[in-house]
Amino acid sequence: MYLVVNSGSSSLKLLVFDAAMAEVARAAVERIGVGGPTDHAAALDVALQAVEIDLERVTSAGHRVVHGGAELIATCVLTAQVEAEIERLVPLAPLHNPGALAGIRALRARAASLPHYAAFDTAFHATNPDIATTYALPLAERMRGLRRYGFHGLSYAAVVRKVQEMWINPFPKRLLSFHLGNGASICAIQDGISVASTMGYSPLDGLTMGTRAGGLDPAVVLDLAARHGVTATSELLNRQSGLLALGGSNDMRALAGPEGAFARAHFAYWAVRHAGSMVAAMGGVDAITFTGGIGENDGTVRSNIMNGLAFLGVVMDGEANARHECLLHDRESRVAVWIIPAEEERQIALEMAALRAKGGAGA
Ligand code: ADP
Repeated sequence: MYLVVNSGSSSLKLLVFDAAMAEVARAAVERIGVGGPTDHAAALDVALQAVEIDLERVTSAGHRVVHGGAELIATCVLTAQVEAEIERLVPLAPLHNPGALAGIRALRARAASLPHYAAFDTAFHATNPDIATTYALPLAERMRGLRRYGFHGLSYAAVVRKVQEMWINPFPKRLLSFHLGNGASICAIQDGISVASTMGYSPLDGLTMGTRAGGLDPAVVLDLAARHGVTATSELLNRQSGLLALGGSNDMRALAGPEGAFARAHFAYWAVRHAGSMVAAMGGVDAITFTGGIGENDGTVRSNIMNGLAFLGVVMDGEANARHECLLHDRESRVAVWIIPAEEERQIALEMAALRAKGGAGA
């Protein structure tokens, strides 16, 4: 059995897969340190109890890590060096990597002999060309690691795998992939590999999101930081912006009234604008996928995005879209469109199992 731990800044998800990769249990703990369990170790105990799993029966554990930086570009055995590198990257992912480290350490303390693996959200984008990842900044700043990395990579890797599984035709040459959840991004996938992402140095860039503003003129950030200080600005940009700021909620379902309608329209408009940039990076588009809570469930947002991309030859089957079917394109569409449910944790389990099969079980 495989255990996958997905630790966020204040949440922890635990999934258990059997040897055939069927999901056998899952548990989610929210509000760590803010009303719920005091820390990630306590949250892990709650989750382990909920999934009722005997740790003796687990063959390996996989941990989702948001930032792997420039070096950790594939799922790997979680050695002391890898853990130290994840720690070194905390300044690059201050809201994400500390939670992952806390989850790793908490599970290690409970299952010391278990082989642990780390899977990185940045890894899928390691194939982006330098021209796509380089910020036009002075060399000294670039040398410090200021560049685009891209995120949601485990989700995109799962999309590629699932399209390969379900699509009998050759893999689409130019795949525009939308991950629309609380965090939202788009990835340009050419011949199965990432060539561009709307997220950059951090997950703040790109689309309007649940509580993040998405792309901003850096001068806006300078103004905010001068006025409120860096810490408060980070909080404002990460947790108080986006749909929440425009429409009063970070949940698409709760957005109502004129402000809610504007927030929803803003989300779709900017998704289309950024999609244009991703399509340009691939020189066109042959297929589109939607994944994530919004991408899988919000027919109106999907419809607005597909209609916004009609100029590329996207023709939506409105009824299929309203029913959230797997195939959303009309017969005359030049571009295939699919809903692919997000499978980040299964992706981690599969990558870990593949490594084990190759003898990468580690100590
Ligand atoms: P995360 O990025 O935290 O993993 P999800 O991918 O689960 O989040 O997406 C969460 C978001 O998806 C919610 O905030 C909400 O906006 C949206 N969502 C979930 N279910 C629905 C639904 N049935 N209709 C519209 N939006 C939904």
